[in-house]
Amino acid sequence: MKKSFYVSIILCLCLITAAFTVGCGNDSTSKADTSTEAATVDDAKTDGIDYMALVNKTHALPEDWEKNIETIKFTNTVGDDVEVEKKAYDAYLELKAALEAEGVTVDLDSARRSVADQQRIMDEFTKEKGADYAAKTVAKPGYSEHHTGLALDLYLIVDGKDITENEDMEQYPEIWEKIHAKLADYGFILRYLEGREHITGYGYEPWHIRYIDNIDVAKEIMSKDITFEEYLGTYSGPQVTVDYGTSELYTKEELEAAVIQIKCKFAFWDGCELNSIRYAGDDAVSEKKLAELNKKDPKTNYSRAAKFLMDFHTGENKGETTFETNHEYKDYQWYLAVNDEGGWDIVDFGY
Ligand SMILES: [Zn+2]
Repeated sequence: MKKSFYVSIILCLCLITAAFTVGCGNDSTSKADTSTEAATVDDAKTDGIDYMALVNKTHALPEDWEKNIETIKFTNTVGDDVEVEKKAYDAYLELKAALEAEGVTVDLDSARRSVADQQRIMDEFTKEKGADYAAKTVAKPGYSEHHTGLALDLYLIVDGKDITENEDMEQYPEIWEKIHAKLADYGFILRYLEGREHITGYGYEPWHIRYIDNIDVAKEIMSKDITFEEYLGTYSGPQVTVDYGTSELYTKEELEAAVIQIKCKFAFWDGCELNSIRYAGDDAVSEKKLAELNKKDPKTNYSRAAKFLMDFHTGENKGETTFETNHEYKDYQWYLAVNDEGGWDIVDFGY
């Protein structure tokens, strides 16, 4: 029973990871020498759009948005056509100029993707891989922030070279730091923060920025290091009690990072609600247990592991999990180990 549940969770997570790629990837591969310039302006009438609109996996694009949005189209340095909401584009140009003054060059990989475009992607996936697979891997049309025209995916130009692939862009954390420090001055925020997958539904994306047309609010969000969801109050977090206890082995920050990992994983358990998590104490993982954890994967050689206990309950809908419906689960165990990068790996969970 536990095994099948474990497999379904892993499968689910893999599919969700794939969804991140399809939903918000930087996948430009073609290279061409085209300069960045405004090419066309849509003459759609603007009754005004709400620059603070929240669009995520549970909040759809507001009605009439596509009728009211005014956009700019241009060709980026790799030859792709990019469409951006007009005001966001003006702010982006200012941001870009300010970054250039500091020796950082960026361009836009993708910005606006219409609901129809997203539907086309969904249809293609459905035809090729089936409806179930498509539903799980492609962002649902209407629920991608890229529909707004206010979400921009940046890429870097380093030493004259276009750096567009996610893995390559991730190699420049110091450049992203410079970029992120400037965002709020031009009304932008960073949207998908590290360790906040359980709130935003997306993994860390240093390149995905969002225009909100309000410098004060952007500054508040960026300085508090919170997500847009948290600022808007649509995410107050589940009423979870976390007890970190006392530890000589781990700092509070380390234990907090471990709890975030657990919450991220738990967030995908359909119909389950988290009540509490507590650190089981420095003596909770014996040498024998550590050896057992290492046996799960012959490639691992963890020297430190921690145990947490969780109370949660299931409701009427338990999705694909094998938990009982309407049931209280107490002292559910989680084992996490410190990996080579100093982060946490969830090694085992269950009774
Ligand atoms: Zn994006």
